[in-house]
Amino acid sequence: MTNTLARAAARYDLGALHRELVEEHGGEVDDSVPQLAEADPNAFGIALALPDGDVRSVGNARDEFSMQSAVKPFVYALALRDNYDAVHEEVGTEPTGESFDAVLLEEDTGRPPNPMVNAGAIYTANLVEGSDARAKRERILVGLSAFAGRELRVDEGVAEAEQEKGDRNRALAYLMRSMGTLDPGVDEALEVYAAACAVLVDTEVLAVMGATLAFGGRNPRTGEQVVSRRVVTDVLSVMATCGMYDGSGRWLRRVGLPAKSGVAGGLVASVQGVAGIGVYSPPLDPVGNSVRGVRVCERLSADLGLHVFDRELDPS
Ligand code: GLN
Repeated sequence: MTNTLARAAARYDLGALHRELVEEHGGEVDDSVPQLAEADPNAFGIALALPDGDVRSVGNARDEFSMQSAVKPFVYALALRDNYDAVHEEVGTEPTGESFDAVLLEEDTGRPPNPMVNAGAIYTANLVEGSDARAKRERILVGLSAFAGRELRVDEGVAEAEQEKGDRNRALAYLMRSMGTLDPGVDEALEVYAAACAVLVDTEVLAVMGATLAFGGRNPRTGEQVVSRRVVTDVLSVMATCGMYDGSGRWLRRVGLPAKSGVAGGLVASVQGVAGIGVYSPPLDPVGNSVRGVRVCERLSADLGLHVFDRELDPS
């Protein structure tokens, strides 16, 4: 069944979908840091990474952009790989129904609610092994590059700007420290998180990263087993329930795929056993998800029958 879906994905007319949705002009480009505000609202790329490692793409699929929150599932995966029990003890897995940067911790435990919102991502980034911020940054970058199958780099300008303007993130880090949860200093924690958000990718890379999760943690281009299946199951579950912020419930019903968006306009989705999907289009809807990114995934899911709760049942 999944091979049938992968074959259909390989034949799908991405060009027609791109031509149709390029006419969709809703949404606002994020302006939280100057580098993001300068993004071209018309840039629009779509990519699919398939089981044999082939990547099909259309539009501006080679334009670079920072991952922003689309990095969160991968950072969560790397933290689980390094410190599985601690991550599950110290970070929740409940959707918040609040915005991604809500200054909010679990009431009874003081834990961050889940790793897909800023509190949880700041926390999990710092559960990746490393003696200091530099070592953690480096380990995250190497891990993300393994997901991507190519060497990635940090846009230092974006990372610095994020740290300068990141008052809400600073508030969250202080709050977690005051609860006695976050271990490193606030500056160190925010440095690691900001660097992860500022990692540059393009749409094709994002699709390969999604595919690595879709294929049980094994990168379909390089063959490298980046994380274990146990980690992948946890990551996909949390992406499915919390990945699209306070739009997560509606997303799961309409699209039915684990996914994660970022405010630069990137969106990554994983279709288990079938493909990784990457989309890039900077204008965002009010909850912070790429308008065209959401539309692309809705269409791919409906046209190819990818919804996890609406797959053709195998009669055998
Ligand atoms: N760097 C951003 C922040 O922490 C990431 C937000 C996002 O992409 N939703 O505010």
